[in-house]
Amino acid sequence: MTRRILLLPGDGIGPEVIREARRVLEVVGDRHALDLAFTEANLGGVAIDREGQAYPSTTQSLAREADAILLGAVGGPKWDSLPASQRPERGLLAIRSDLDLFCNLRPALLFQELAEASSLRAELVAGLDILIVRELTGGIYFGEPRGIHTRDDGVREGVNTDRYSETEIRRIGRLAFEAARKRDGRLCSVDKANVLEVTMLWREVMESLSGEYPDVALSHLYVDNAAMQLVREPKQFDVMVTGNLFGDILSDIAAMLTGSIGMLPSASLNAESRGLYEPVHGSAPDIAGQDKANPLATMLSAAMLLRYSLGALEAADQIEQGVAAVLAQGLRTSDLSAGDAQTGALGTRAMGDAVVAALLAQSPAQ
Ligand code: NAD
Repeated sequence: MTRRILLLPGDGIGPEVIREARRVLEVVGDRHALDLAFTEANLGGVAIDREGQAYPSTTQSLAREADAILLGAVGGPKWDSLPASQRPERGLLAIRSDLDLFCNLRPALLFQELAEASSLRAELVAGLDILIVRELTGGIYFGEPRGIHTRDDGVREGVNTDRYSETEIRRIGRLAFEAARKRDGRLCSVDKANVLEVTMLWREVMESLSGEYPDVALSHLYVDNAAMQLVREPKQFDVMVTGNLFGDILSDIAAMLTGSIGMLPSASLNAESRGLYEPVHGSAPDIAGQDKANPLATMLSAAMLLRYSLGALEAADQIEQGVAAVLAQGLRTSDLSAGDAQTGALGTRAMGDAVVAALLAQSPAQ
């Protein structure tokens, strides 16, 4: 059965990192007879330039037909002066809501060799392996009413609304319980139930779901404490589940614990497990086109694509082992190298070559 993979290279370093991730997908695809068919389309700034809008209809039709989508990054200074509603980033919000990608998975996994790159002491983060499950299409980023208006007394006021229905909480909760079940069986739900009614309901629904998952230990933390615990003792966590706003912030904290932004993958899934996979980093305009970008986060996103949308678990494991192997060989892109080591750093293409070589060196049965 042919699996249709839509590639959306986007802007800045996007095309460079997508090119290397595609090579890696082709190698493991051949090895596991996955019959992957790649198509490319425009999203973001490049789509504005070529087709007049950030999420053009041609991209929309291909995205709806694809089994999975791999995205580079969107945005850059060239489009910063456009009104907010026409910016490249709107393309990203549009594709997420078009495909109903309500579940964002952000693993924060520390590769042993990079423990020194963390902002925390190595012993606090060695072996770190957290999965943050963030609700992505609801909450305060989308709630109505919203806007900036002038009150009767002439003073301007900004308004946003945090809103979650039971149905929305239950569907993200189920995915988080399922994920915890496949890992260490611990789920921490993060809320602000001492102050916000919307998260009182969140906590109530999570509690009600826990009866269906007796093998998962559910705990709750207020978001302020969760942020503190993430930097105090991060290894206490297995899976964390939270709403859109808290998830945005906590996943960035967890990201920094692992060292470079160039190492972090993500997945956004809908109820059918079709998904959009992308590195956490942006389009890095400061290094675009210079063969300096670290392609590993995009390769790890490709591994998530194989695991969560195609069910190709062994192929996914192989990519992750390939990445671990090049790090173990001491190979680094410049974002992972400090001081003098920068001169010996690999470029984007050379890092791609190294991972491809590591994959080809793996025994087929691995
Ligand atoms: P950024 O992630 O693009 O860059 C932050 C810093 O990290 C830069 O110094 C950059 O060189 C470095 N960096 C990022 N990825 C790297 C990689 N793979 N290898 C090596 N170094 C890397 O964030 P920013 O500078 O805040 O944003 C730049 C543009 O990207 C903006 O237009 C922003 O809107 C957009 N953006 C897009 C996404 C997305 O597409 N999902 C996410 C964040 C930012």
